[in-house]
Amino acid sequence: MTKPDPKCDHDVIVIGGGPCGAIAAKRLAEAGIATLLVDREGRIKPCGGAVPSIAMAEYALPASQIKARVRGARMTAPSGNQVSMEIGDIGYVGMVDRDVFDPWLRDEAEAAGAERAVATFRELVRNDDGTVTVTLDPKDKSAEAITRTARLVIGADGANSAVRRQVFGAKARPPYVFAYHEIVRSPGGADTGDFDPHRCEVIYDGEISPDFYGWVFPHGENTSVGVGSANKGFDLKAATRELRQRFGLADAETIREEGAPLPLKPMKRWDDGRNVLLAGDAAGVVAPSSGEGIYYAMHTGDLAADAALETLRTGNPRHLAMARKRFKKAHGRVFMVLGMMQYFWYSSDKRREKFVSLCKDADIQRLTWEGYLNKKLVRRDPLAHLRIAIKDLGQLIGLAPR
Ligand SMILES: Cc1cc2nc3c(=O)[nH]c(=O)nc-3n(C[C@H](O)[C@H](O)[C@H](O)COP(=O)(O)OP(=O)(O)OC[C@H]3O[C@@H](n4cnc5c(N)ncnc54)[C@H](O)[C@@H]3O)c2cc1C
Repeated sequence: MTKPDPKCDHDVIVIGGGPCGAIAAKRLAEAGIATLLVDREGRIKPCGGAVPSIAMAEYALPASQIKARVRGARMTAPSGNQVSMEIGDIGYVGMVDRDVFDPWLRDEAEAAGAERAVATFRELVRNDDGTVTVTLDPKDKSAEAITRTARLVIGADGANSAVRRQVFGAKARPPYVFAYHEIVRSPGGADTGDFDPHRCEVIYDGEISPDFYGWVFPHGENTSVGVGSANKGFDLKAATRELRQRFGLADAETIREEGAPLPLKPMKRWDDGRNVLLAGDAAGVVAPSSGEGIYYAMHTGDLAADAALETLRTGNPRHLAMARKRFKKAHGRVFMVLGMMQYFWYSSDKRREKFVSLCKDADIQRLTWEGYLNKKLVRRDPLAHLRIAIKDLGQLIGLAPR
């Protein structure tokens, strides 16, 4: 590892060691940058844990981290109408357990050379000489606060980011839904009823969520059952109870009950033009419609590391903006379409019913899985997009058959 700038304790301090911060710290340490990775530890991130197979390849995730390989999803409409979407041979959905996945990612960053601190971020001060002073509260409450300096800070401290609050103000937060889930023991033995350990259930029904969806995600021994909604008055716990009832999990042992905000729109600015850069949930990077955030957190961890490397190399903080620019170039269009889909299809039971029936379409199934699993728009078959647009329009104006 190179020695940090003589003015500083570290070149980069990464606040938050979830998927985003751990990947950023690992990349920086691998590049020889003196990196401190700070995480308060001790809380399991509430999360359904579904990760597309591209993440296993891009981030060399070992098979031991994948608790189940899911081969398809079943969508349920308000009427109870169900549509199965099989993945086929183009990939799979890997299920990770965040209680072991996140610590493993942090260990990987440390093994690459990052220094670690188990502490809570309290504040940062941007000094006149271009450095940043960060104050951390150690886990041991009787110990003194830790003060460290760095040339750059990456705020990867999640949806409620304290770094974001300090640098951009309390009002600068992305719109979000609140997501709640219960981890239950998966049905075992000979009779598991309708439960399939290799299938995700996705429920579009105003009773389960007035503006998002409900899910049953199998993780081997355990299963995540949950719902999301931006409607503050909506009873997420009652909806989850109803889901458990509908999917034969009412009497399953409950292991944990937990929830957290799920941002649904990337922020307009991720950096302060000086020495602080946000990424992952802190920057609001979760896909609308699906709520997928793990892959994007890791990906923006990568992009934040690249932007930090370029900024350190050139001494020009304008390069911090590279992270958001590259993200927008790669995923901006998909996020925009997903945002429009959520706005349109999740707004009434009539539309949810049509949305689920659209999912019967072979072109839609293939493009959906290609987009999700491999993060690419399918260019091989432009006519498929046209066919979908025509069917979509037909459904909207009520002409297409159900
Ligand atoms: C109920 C629910 C279900 C979800 N299901 C899925 C799913 O199935 N698939 C999917 O892809 N996404 C899912 N998501 C979204 C996904 O969990 C997030 O997008 C992802 O975890 C973001 O990663 P991150 O590293 O940016 O932030 P986080 O995972 O939130 O990590 C932030 C880290 O920062 C640390 N931290 C926070 N504040 C401080 C502080 N002040 N000082 C020090 N450390 C701090 C925390 O300890 C944590 O380790 C779900 C979210 C919720 C709430």
